[in-house]
Amino acid sequence: MPRDIRLPHDRRPLITAVLPCYNEAEVLDRTHVRLTAVLSRLLSYDHEIVYVDDGSTDGTWETLSRLAERSRSVRAVKLSRNFGHQAACLAGLRTAAGDAVVLIDADLQDPPELIPEMAALWREGWSVVSARRRSRDGETAFKKASAYAFYRLLSAVSDHDPALDTGDFRLLDRRVVALLTASPDKNLYLRGRISAFGLPEAHLSYDRDARQAGSTKYTLRKMVALARNGLLDGSAAPLRLTSWLGAAVLAGGLAAAAVRRDPRVLARSGAFGAQALALGLVGEYLHAVLRQVQDRPDYVVERTLGGSAPPASAPP
Ligand code: UDP
Ligand code: MG
Repeated sequence: MPRDIRLPHDRRPLITAVLPCYNEAEVLDRTHVRLTAVLSRLLSYDHEIVYVDDGSTDGTWETLSRLAERSRSVRAVKLSRNFGHQAACLAGLRTAAGDAVVLIDADLQDPPELIPEMAALWREGWSVVSARRRSRDGETAFKKASAYAFYRLLSAVSDHDPALDTGDFRLLDRRVVALLTASPDKNLYLRGRISAFGLPEAHLSYDRDARQAGSTKYTLRKMVALARNGLLDGSAAPLRLTSWLGAAVLAGGLAAAAVRRDPRVLARSGAFGAQALALGLVGEYLHAVLRQVQDRPDYVVERTLGGSAPPASAPP
């Protein structure tokens, strides 16, 4: 049995729930009720909730301010603009004071009722407790198929074995949170970083509900960006692929030339395609290096409400 975590002896352990919210005004009241019901039943723990408003343009901030005013255990962090789900999670992790922190979506697709089980596994000594999606309700066939393919592709090319069908719904021990928030890595793919730590990780399965209100905030563009970050984070395999592709095209061209069936067209178009792909891929890595060198903050906190801890902000 792993024993990697340190529990406080002089007080009850504190659990923080971190919820990134982008235009979730329609669902937040419901989410808060369900989440608080679960957390307040956890009698052997203290709890706090950190909501991160990721630059919403609906009434999300108003709702969060109200929740933070009403309850001492709620903190609301407002980012200056939409920085994306991963950056919002990171902002929440930097604000969280918990001995363990649970990352959970605001739209109730991740059932808060799983938190007690996660907490129990944490107390048994697991540093990470992640929740695998056994099924996904209320999502388009495209979303399901692309997610299915993405997790398998990632698993095939990653240096570290990422758990299949496992998103960011997970409990993290303080030590993992500290490692995550201290990392200067600008490529925001938190799950990749977590699995690379290699600390003891337990898995739970759950059926993913449909979103309880509104529509997905993960646009195709954001999904592609996440997939790209995941692949760049995982390994250099995509980069190596370009060399293989170049070799394959060269071999194809040679073979075509050997059988003399108009080799020029085939060789030219094939070679052009492969070169463009290779250049694009090298460009992606170069862009990742540029981002790292620029060292811009991952997000900017505009204001924080509630709680007694100092307001969180990204390190300069
Ligand atoms: N989210 C965010 N910033 C974004 C996009 C999404 O903070 O730019 C939040 C969103 O409010 C939700 C979570 O991330 O709490 C997951 O997003 P969503 O439910 O839209 O994604 P899906 O479940 O459809 O993949
Ligand atoms: Mg969702």
